[in-house]
Amino acid sequence: MQPVPPVVGPRRLLRRIRDVMASEAEAQPKLDQIVRVIASDMVAEVCSIYVQRAGEVLELFATEGLNPEAVHNTRLRVGEGLVGEVAARAQPLALADAQSHPAFVYRPETGEDPYHSFMGVPMLRQGHVVGVVVVQNRTQRNYDDEEVEAMETVAMVLAELVGGSGLVSPEETVPTEGNAVLPVRLDGVQANGGVALGKAIIHRSDVAIRQLVAEDPETELRRLDEALAEVHRNLDRMFGARELAQQGEHRDVLETYRMFAADAGWLNRIRDAIASGLTAEAGVQQVRENTRLRMAQITDPYLRERLADLEDLAVRVLLQLTGADAGARAELPDDAILVCRVMGPAELLDYDPKKLRALVMEEGSATAHVSIVARALDIPVIAQVKGLLTRLRNGDIVIVDGDNAQIFVRPSDDAVQSFHDNLRVRAARREVFAQLRDAPSVTQDGAAVSLNINAGLELDVPQLHATGADGIGLFRTEIPFMVRATYPDVAAQTALYRNILDQAEGKPVIFRTLDVGGDKALPYFASEPGENPALGWRAMRMTLDRPAMLRQQMRALVRAANGRPLAVMFPMISEVEEFSRARAILDLELVREEKAGGKLPRELKVGAMVEVPSLLWQLPALLARADFLSIGSNDLIQFLFASDRGNPRLADRYDSLSPIVLRVVRDLVREADKAGVPVSVCGEMAGRPLEAMALTGLGVRALSMTASSVGPVKAMVRALRLRPLADYLKTVLDSSDHSLRDRLRAFARDHEIPV
Ligand code: PEP
Ligand code: MG
Repeated sequence: MQPVPPVVGPRRLLRRIRDVMASEAEAQPKLDQIVRVIASDMVAEVCSIYVQRAGEVLELFATEGLNPEAVHNTRLRVGEGLVGEVAARAQPLALADAQSHPAFVYRPETGEDPYHSFMGVPMLRQGHVVGVVVVQNRTQRNYDDEEVEAMETVAMVLAELVGGSGLVSPEETVPTEGNAVLPVRLDGVQANGGVALGKAIIHRSDVAIRQLVAEDPETELRRLDEALAEVHRNLDRMFGARELAQQGEHRDVLETYRMFAADAGWLNRIRDAIASGLTAEAGVQQVRENTRLRMAQITDPYLRERLADLEDLAVRVLLQLTGADAGARAELPDDAILVCRVMGPAELLDYDPKKLRALVMEEGSATAHVSIVARALDIPVIAQVKGLLTRLRNGDIVIVDGDNAQIFVRPSDDAVQSFHDNLRVRAARREVFAQLRDAPSVTQDGAAVSLNINAGLELDVPQLHATGADGIGLFRTEIPFMVRATYPDVAAQTALYRNILDQAEGKPVIFRTLDVGGDKALPYFASEPGENPALGWRAMRMTLDRPAMLRQQMRALVRAANGRPLAVMFPMISEVEEFSRARAILDLELVREEKAGGKLPRELKVGAMVEVPSLLWQLPALLARADFLSIGSNDLIQFLFASDRGNPRLADRYDSLSPIVLRVVRDLVREADKAGVPVSVCGEMAGRPLEAMALTGLGVRALSMTASSVGPVKAMVRALRLRPLADYLKTVLDSSDHSLRDRLRAFARDHEIPV
């Protein structure tokens, strides 16, 4: 074996590449020269550059060491051979014995058989692999981590050369799918309802970097620090000035974001990249590319969102360093549909909110920080629209249907017409519902049905008054916890709950204790998702194991009430004993508060959510202890049918109007009525007029729903006669049909009930 050549640091190599790049030569001769420079600097017999072309093909564009005839002739599919493997996984691959790797394929035209070792590194640009750079040695050489890192730095420079030089047409470096000019419908996940029509504005976060290789790392580190300081000042100004930022959770979101700007790990990675010879902007860019890649590989929604925040920050620092401004953002049409892969909350606020009609993201989720801020702007938001950025062009007309989580790109004239019709109908319906705001929610035969809203953010509470709802039937306390960077202490929680009660102005509010764990991760607790998060260590199971959390929450609620009535509800109760333990913790807190001179609630109601079927066989014991019950139909249906509520394939599989679900409700209401314990329904079904009609017919007298459903459900209640409906239900409830939906719809039609 020959001796292993010495490790070469990347700075000398980068400088040599910079000299080539600075020359007047065309792109192809530059590439030819660069492969020679790399090969000699890395003491490798071979250096080759493959460029990704349309159709996921990697074409050999330049080589030192392989047969020159193979250039522009050797092509590999992404995933084919070692080079294809590097591109497919977007990860470096270093092998001392390449030919024994399972992905190795032999291409005789290249003449590569004598080379044993292989190092391939992806060239990344704008989150995509634009090519692969490879070195090969005859010996079985072990490329070490430093050499791989050096190549990654070089690859980043090469990616810019390939992407920005016209070597291949720009369309080829951005993947496209399908025929881009035909109308298309794309589906996603709802993050906020509503509809909009407008022009697509693709949020560009690309910043042109002219200088990649640094003269002096010290100067570059200083430039980075200055840019960071300016970014911090700008963020302070932005968050301080926006009236939005004054509202509770938004502050938390923005604080979290600010925290990321000071994230030591992120900054250190940038500093390391600069120390290896890149300019400050190229260093930020390199770390950004890696972050984008990690984002593509991470499935945990919380982590993905945090990485999106880092992406947002990287762009801000780049704009600062390059002196470019986000000029395009000023030129927003009046009806902008903002389209992006994902963005951070501050990026959204860079746009004029008055001109934004909707936000559509290829990634993201309903709980992403940007979605929370967008909801505050009251625009429809759709997340996880697959293929969005490859199917849509800047300026395309887009209809966004947030209610059905769909977008229509380049809609036909008919579709636009029907959008306008739909808008008119909505406006008319809104008008009708607005008129119902103060009308009592009472059936034709005089039964009062209490209509309440579900809330989770302080900004939801004004809806209570806007809709004329009776109260908040479900306040999901975990939502404010989820958007914070740190665990809120008793004082912070007290302030939050007090504000909710103040804003409710005496209308009842039911606070549900923390329903976290499983897939609802808190940023500051290590989560243990397990194999079945919905069935895992979550909600009461978690808070009873960590009673301090529950105690603190109870203390905060009691203090926030400060003598006012208080209603508390426990989620995911699976056995009565859990309810009793939770209640005992609350009772102890009351004793403590009283001793400490605090004011106790004038009236205290403690209830349980019925969402785990096991409770249905413990009703007498539960009803003897609980002041009220609330059916969480989302989880109850998921557990009754063993059907993941978040799985789109199962979304229509079982129906909430299945006779099984309705019989469960009937039996529960019967028992609860006998015990004199009120029952409400607070899952999604309560907000759908047809479902709400069935529930009312079964004796449910309180419903809690998203605010926008209050009007439609009230219109249904006011048109309803209970007796005929109850009689009708008796005749169909024992059926073994999949669903009673069609029959109930026919009943509503026959009885002129708007559903
Ligand atoms: C439910 O499960 O129906 C419910 C209201 O709770 P969540 O949707 O928060 O789980
Ligand atoms: Mg639930």
